[in-house]
Amino acid sequence: MMNVQLTTAAILRHGARVHATARVRTLQPDGSVRTGTFAEVGRRSAQLAHALRACGVVGDERVATLMWNNQEHVEAYCAVPSMGAVLHTLNPRLTPEQLVYIANHADDRVVIVDGTLAPLLAAVLPQLAEVHTVVVTGGVDLAPLERDGLTVVGYDDFIGGHLETFEWPELDELSAAAMCYTSGTTGNPKGVAYSHRSTYLHSMAACAADGLSVTGDDAILAIVPMFHANAWGLVYAALMAGADLVMPERFLQAEPLVRLISSERPTIAGAVPTIWSDVLNHLDSNPGHDISSLGLVACGGSAVPLHLMKAFQEKYGVQIVQAWGMTETSPLAAIARPPAAVEGEEHWALRASQGRPVAGVELRLIDDDGNEVPHDGKSVGEIQVRGPWITGSYIGDEDAEKFDDGWLRTGDVGRIDERSFVTLTDRAKDVIKSGGEWISSVELELLLAGHPDVLEATVIGVPDEKWQERPLAVIVVRDGSEVTPSQLRDFLEGKVAKWWLPERWCFVPDVPKTSVGKFDKKLLRARHADGDLAVIDL
Ligand code: ADP
Repeated sequence: MMNVQLTTAAILRHGARVHATARVRTLQPDGSVRTGTFAEVGRRSAQLAHALRACGVVGDERVATLMWNNQEHVEAYCAVPSMGAVLHTLNPRLTPEQLVYIANHADDRVVIVDGTLAPLLAAVLPQLAEVHTVVVTGGVDLAPLERDGLTVVGYDDFIGGHLETFEWPELDELSAAAMCYTSGTTGNPKGVAYSHRSTYLHSMAACAADGLSVTGDDAILAIVPMFHANAWGLVYAALMAGADLVMPERFLQAEPLVRLISSERPTIAGAVPTIWSDVLNHLDSNPGHDISSLGLVACGGSAVPLHLMKAFQEKYGVQIVQAWGMTETSPLAAIARPPAAVEGEEHWALRASQGRPVAGVELRLIDDDGNEVPHDGKSVGEIQVRGPWITGSYIGDEDAEKFDDGWLRTGDVGRIDERSFVTLTDRAKDVIKSGGEWISSVELELLLAGHPDVLEATVIGVPDEKWQERPLAVIVVRDGSEVTPSQLRDFLEGKVAKWWLPERWCFVPDVPKTSVGKFDKKLLRARHADGDLAVIDL
């Protein structure tokens, strides 16, 4: 067989030529949608690559993006790795301190920034010593960014006048294509580098029928930000399959999302559960919207409540499919698509699991003593994972603890059944240890989220003199609800072991979220330790 390297340039060439008429459709502030074909994306990516070369980007230097989901970001996804440089997607929701740390750690040289995020970049730029060029999209005033020794230029001016074809270099498929830092839900952000090969193989897995089953007849609504684990691979999958990309820009609230779904009729979408929960509430209180174009909604990043999946399916004809992964796993590792022959409650039980590993990904369970435990649906251990798109190291970090004999230790605890369906019971760092036994915060949360008066529920472990730790349930109730903690406790009764039932409750207006929309338990634990949560003791 020919030794052809699997690179992003190959994905780009395929998308721009074979699927030349597929489109990137980007939502505009006035509600309209601007479109560019994949052929145009190909031409503009070539121009961007020439412009980056001309401003001095060589070898595997890092080009960062600080952008929302739009066509220019797709062009950066195509041009930067394909020219041999490394794409580093920065997360604008991080704190300025985290941004400075990450951009310097990655040694970013150029930043492509969305005009609306220019003030955020301006605030940290003086501390980004290696950045020599800033490219700004959206035609905004460049003056606030300007300083000595720095080139600041508008995106269209930057790429304008350059050739619309680029001789993409022959790259080693094992070289780095992109890098991403974990969102730091449980600790400091760590950098992961994706190779060309891992990106290519992961995109194929995402497209596969047992993955997200993407075809040229699809339109993918990528709500998951392009800075969150590569937008879960949706961008390259679209280029491979010839699916349109529907991009919501920075308009990630339920109302514009529902309008976008109704008008652009995407068939596939991806976002974390908190987004879908907002969308559901919006749909329920504003009847009349048709979102039934969505055939498959990929949802993951944290556990997906069963009632959310059922409500979407039964009321709106939309199938939410749970997937599990991490920044470290590119991210697609497992997906919950039960065999068609499994029906009824068993079907739903499998849908509520984190799914089966996709081909290419292997899982094993390891107990506290380092022994492998059986996949019997009962034994619990830490999930370890390996495969061609699973990271084998962290950038500039000899964290050997995270690896075990060629496997990545995920920090996720759970069980695997005989059919290889995974159920996560917790993150190791969120697990509640009470009287020497584990209480699954995830299981309590999912049950509470199913109560009709509960809008959001999260459960954290708090210190307890007698039991070492006990669960504290932090609840957001629906407007007008008068539900009490003891009613919620009664609701849990019989569904979990008696000693799991929380006696500590706290009602809040909203649960704090991390930069990628997960419940921020680290912050909640800190607030509790500082005495900032009004706890009701039953
Ligand atoms: P961070 O670790 O900072 O949150 P990631 O977005 O990479 O950054 O998070 C990966 C983690 O998210 C996984 O290790 C797991 O704990 C959690 N996760 C992802 N998908 C699911 C899911 N379907 N159900 C439960 N937890 C999930």
